[in-house]
Amino acid sequence: MSSHLEVLVVGAGIAGLATATALHREGMSVDVIERSPESRAMGAGLFLPGNSVRALTALGLGKHLSVQGAPVPGQRLMDHRGRVLADIDMAELWRGTAGCVGITRGDLHAALQDIAPVPVRHEVTVVSLKQSDDGVHVEFSDGGSGRYDVVVGADGIRSGLRESVDPAAGTRYLGQVCWRFLTDAPDIDRWTVWLGPGTAFLAYPVGGGQVCCYADVAAASPEDPTTAAGLLGLYSGYGQRVRDLLASPAAREAYFSPVEEVSGETWVRGRVVLVGDAAHASSPNMAQGVAMAVEDAQVLAEVLATRGDTEHLLQQYVQRRLSRTRWVQRQTHRRDRSRSMPPAVRNLAFRYGAKALWERGYAPLRDLP
Ligand SMILES: Cc1cc2nc3c(=O)[nH]c(=O)nc-3n(C[C@H](O)[C@H](O)[C@H](O)COP(=O)(O)OP(=O)(O)OC[C@H]3O[C@@H](n4cnc5c(N)ncnc54)[C@H](O)[C@@H]3O)c2cc1C
Repeated sequence: MSSHLEVLVVGAGIAGLATATALHREGMSVDVIERSPESRAMGAGLFLPGNSVRALTALGLGKHLSVQGAPVPGQRLMDHRGRVLADIDMAELWRGTAGCVGITRGDLHAALQDIAPVPVRHEVTVVSLKQSDDGVHVEFSDGGSGRYDVVVGADGIRSGLRESVDPAAGTRYLGQVCWRFLTDAPDIDRWTVWLGPGTAFLAYPVGGGQVCCYADVAAASPEDPTTAAGLLGLYSGYGQRVRDLLASPAAREAYFSPVEEVSGETWVRGRVVLVGDAAHASSPNMAQGVAMAVEDAQVLAEVLATRGDTEHLLQQYVQRRLSRTRWVQRQTHRRDRSRSMPPAVRNLAFRYGAKALWERGYAPLRDLP
């Protein structure tokens, strides 16, 4: 029976913890290793659309999300001066799934750890990995070793395991860099974006009167383009509300990262399989990273719980996930292209077409994975 599989999960981020929980529920024994010395979630907050909340609720996190997160009833699009272009109702967009939520990364990570079936072994990584007829033999950086039926690479966008699965797949820079920070702004009660020429500024509630702010800018190279004037300098043409948020002390400590994706199509080699960002990291403009990671975990657990040859079941997992994650990536590319439109044309398109665009962009994700 496949459900007695021994599984190693490499990486204790959202994908790794969700996968460990989902596999354990199906009767598999799980080890989780994590390279970093402690559990810490970098990068401020997360917007969780309806399919994300549905997947996390199925995992057992419904209560955590409603207690620690903030409901996000709508998405408001504005030009950089604060003139409203469109209001999109989340209950209507995500009908039949779940309400949208904003939450800090720290709170979501803590909630996932709360329900995780086994303690994470920190400061441990894979030193070598050999596949043979009786499974995968792994040597760890702490001197230990183990034999597993399946090894799951949940080690994020810079996955080392991806090297052994698909050496040709790497990260691709998408021509934008971004900053994220948390600050107090109890008046912002929905996902709110201000769109400027070549820049955008976003804020959404994450609970406790805080918002997660996200600022991005088109940049030819993935280096930090801020000058002595800092972020405020880049957004000086924006309205007062954005400039106030950027003047908060937290903005000076904003978490910087280039926007990148991973788009290889080989996620399995033998009994080593990739989930989450390691397999299909995407631009955050659809906010689908958590949803895709947790859906991966659910589908992987579902297929491995059925009888059959393990390698064949892993291929089934890929077949079930590839088209949905590729579809999400195509939507993110489409959204990125709208950034290069002249602002007046883009604003007009959003004023009259945003609702239809959102409906087309998200409707298939209302279906179960
Ligand atoms: C700017 C930005 C904003 C985003 N906003 C949103 C959003 O609003 N909503 C949303 O749903 N998604 C968002 N995302 C995407 C989301 O953050 C990711 O999709 C999600 O965190 C993926 O988690 P993961 O577990 O796959 O990877 P990670 O979170 O990167 O976790 C990987 C883990 O593996 C560990 N690790 C790495 N290598 C090894 C190793 N060799 N051995 C052991 N451990 C290892 C790492 O330390 C880490 O803990 C955003 C992404 C970015 C870049």
